[in-house]
Amino acid sequence: MSLKVYINGTLYDKADAKISVYDHGLLYGDGVFEGIRSYGGRVFRLEQHLDRLWESAQAIWLEIPISRDEMTAAINETLLANEIIDGYIRLIVTRGAGTLGLDPNKTADPQVIVIADTIALYPDEYYENGLDIVTVATQRNHPAALDPRIKSLNYLNNILAKIEGLRAGCVEALMLNHDGEVAECTGDNIFLVRGGALATPPTTAGILAGITRGVVIELAQGAGLAVHEDPLSRRDVYVADECFLTGTAAEVVPVVRIDDRVIGDGKPGPVTRDLMQRFRELTRG
Ligand code: PMP
Repeated sequence: MSLKVYINGTLYDKADAKISVYDHGLLYGDGVFEGIRSYGGRVFRLEQHLDRLWESAQAIWLEIPISRDEMTAAINETLLANEIIDGYIRLIVTRGAGTLGLDPNKTADPQVIVIADTIALYPDEYYENGLDIVTVATQRNHPAALDPRIKSLNYLNNILAKIEGLRAGCVEALMLNHDGEVAECTGDNIFLVRGGALATPPTTAGILAGITRGVVIELAQGAGLAVHEDPLSRRDVYVADECFLTGTAAEVVPVVRIDDRVIGDGKPGPVTRDLMQRFRELTRG
């Protein structure tokens, strides 16, 4: 069975799911997107993902041409057509096809695309032994230039950091913000454990306000842990007891080395493992 992709109300076979080469989503990365998980046939934290999609669109003067209810129906229709129970959903809204110039007023028909597919998970080994990551030279976008809270189709900032990380042999890489503070990884938020409490950069540090980040903060607080959203330096990461990353695809994944320094005892720590377990129970329980 070929994968079916939703574009503007119609399901197309993957090979026929096409948009214009004049679409400003392609020409300029002019558009917004979301990555969402489905667990056991249920879409995880859908309302929050829709909130973020609509806020991202509002921030770039893009009007999503369908309602939230229609978007929800489109997601369910696409999941059903592809028989996805546990999988990954990609929502994309482009500016639409226009002229070769930047002017978004000359575009028409924003494209609403829903892809529902299986998900390529990180290998178990990453969760059992933890990741080794590096801090890269590419800084996170300055919020006054392009706020990282906008989940736009322009991901070059993250891609450049990702390439730097990969060339250093790491699957994730830590990005600093314009003030040299810890921001986030290329596709994941970062948390530290120090003295039994969690620390993570505030959303004003130039990061995406990750949905998984929010879930983990709730789980930690529910478990009686204090969570501090304060600016962090590289030094804070180096002296942390534990470190882990959160994201829709990665969920909760431990980090045991950074910049050739061992974090804690070099193994995923008890707080990280407890939160991984709580996250699993929440999503699979
Ligand atoms: N930061 C960035 C830059 C991201 O692209 C993502 C999503 N892949 C995250 C953090 C994690 O956000 P979420 O938990 O909503 O997936």
